[in-house]
Amino acid sequence: MKRIVILGATGSIGRSTLDLVERSPERFQVTAVTAATNAEALADIARRTGSSFAAIADESRLGELRERLAGTDCRAAAGEAALLEAAAHDAELVIAAIVGCAGLEPVMAAIGPGRTVALANKEALVTAGALMTDAAARHKAMLLPIDSEHNAIFQCLAGSRREDVARLVLTASGGPFRTSPELLDDVTPAQAIAHPNWSMGAKISVDSATLMNKGLEVIEAHYLFGLPSDRLDVIVHPQSVIHSMVEFIDGSVLAQLGAPDMRIPIAYALAWPERIETPADRLDLAAIARLDFEAPDLARFPALALARAALEAGGAAPIVLNAANEVAVERFLAGAIRFTDIAAMVGDALHAADWPAPSSIGDVLAIDRATRLRVEAAMTENCP
Ligand code: NDP
Repeated sequence: MKRIVILGATGSIGRSTLDLVERSPERFQVTAVTAATNAEALADIARRTGSSFAAIADESRLGELRERLAGTDCRAAAGEAALLEAAAHDAELVIAAIVGCAGLEPVMAAIGPGRTVALANKEALVTAGALMTDAAARHKAMLLPIDSEHNAIFQCLAGSRREDVARLVLTASGGPFRTSPELLDDVTPAQAIAHPNWSMGAKISVDSATLMNKGLEVIEAHYLFGLPSDRLDVIVHPQSVIHSMVEFIDGSVLAQLGAPDMRIPIAYALAWPERIETPADRLDLAAIARLDFEAPDLARFPALALARAALEAGGAAPIVLNAANEVAVERFLAGAIRFTDIAAMVGDALHAADWPAPSSIGDVLAIDRATRLRVEAAMTENCP
């Protein structure tokens, strides 16, 4: 029996994880679950899974959570400390599926001795970078990527020597606006979150539409697999059948293929080093018939180049990139700015950034907070 904590249990990744866990009750026991504000869904998940601890970030929802858990053995708590307690709860595996830099401290708390952390929360790794991978090495904690591209690379790398790898190729669907002829200024949040292949939370859906998601993934790949920016390529592959590739020094290329269903990489992380069955569709290559590839359009989607520049600049730049993007995406989803303003705001924030490189998670959080304040102040200034 593998004991599991699910951070961000009420989200898209959290729900896909639960779907798999509930199909194999003899293999998995959920011990703790968390959410931001959704007390109703969190209580329902805690009841269904028999979790012993449920943590909600929003302290004003604690009363509701307690009421909904009445009559169960599940203890409820709220606030930042409660999230950290959940992350450090009794378990062999922690699923890190909070969205944004808000998940950073819980991920760091999860990297306890002997723990495996299945990481969906890419923003945590993008912002903490080597501070996180060093902590994982120090604590002998394993970071298992859930992001489909990194999970694909992880699978392709199995058993190979680092020096035999020539480059990694991350595939990108291109998002909903890959072929749209119109200017991107006027696209709406509803259009931006309508991803052609994947069903995901709102923030990552917008990131996929701007290609910032691919940029964050290039940074994530750098920290997970230790390759420099010039050996981390991106190719647009609209069918999302090949989830990423590894090219070796002899010219061999290994790819991982599968239906675009997050339950496949999540199942891999849940069962690692074994495999379990999933209800995901099987690949029917004859029906798919063709696989297409093209270079990303960096002029229409400047976010990808901004992310790469942030990786190459190093230091605080990835934190600034991520914080500005989180603020901008939130504002776009609220209807306050245009789609094309997202990359512009991120570019301005990077340009203005002058923070020293972080030497602790406290530094990372301070740079994250300061950048958010700067970006918000700049927005207020620019609004009539
Ligand atoms: P969702 O928005 O669907 O879910 C986010 C989860 O995090 C929810 O449980 C939410 O709780 C919780 N949460 C949000 N804000 C906070 C906060 N400030 N403090 C604590 N908890 C919080 O996101 P996704 O599941 O789509 O994505 C999660 C992560 O996984 C992201 O980093 C994303 O980039 C990554 N990822 C997602 C993929 C996907 O297919 N969805 C694919 C690959 C990576 P509540 O419900 O109460 O708001």
